[in-house]
Amino acid sequence: MQAISVQQPWAFAIARGGKTVSNQEASTAYRGPLLVHASMRVDLKACDSPLIQAAGWDPRDPLATLGAVIAVARLDDVCSAAVRGEPCDCGPWAAPSTHHWRLADVRALPRPIVALGRPGLWEPNPTLVAEVELMLDSASADRPT
Ligand SMILES: [Zn+2]
Repeated sequence: MQAISVQQPWAFAIARGGKTVSNQEASTAYRGPLLVHASMRVDLKACDSPLIQAAGWDPRDPLATLGAVIAVARLDDVCSAAVRGEPCDCGPWAAPSTHHWRLADVRALPRPIVALGRPGLWEPNPTLVAEVELMLDSASADRPT
């Protein structure tokens, strides 16, 4: 299990808004489960962007918080075409000149778990991972069948 810290409102858009591409400065060879952590920084001008508005950005939503893990996803692939100035099929969320980390199976947490993040990819401690897994297990147990 690894984690990435993402600025709000982008982290929210991953958790709630169907954003399946995270634009990162660096590539990674890692593939697999990934915690999505909302960093302490906010990209203020992005909050008004049409993409973020269309993703249902709501500052009152608990997952709009800062400094917490808010979702779990799987890192499936990293597309570096845009870094080479080439076109790709990563969709509207993909930014120019960045690596496109392609996420699948995004699951929003029922509530945020406060945690310290780090820039880029980082390894969450086992206590944090256990807390996330416990929360997801109880969330699926509560789901009506
Ligand atoms: Zn791409």
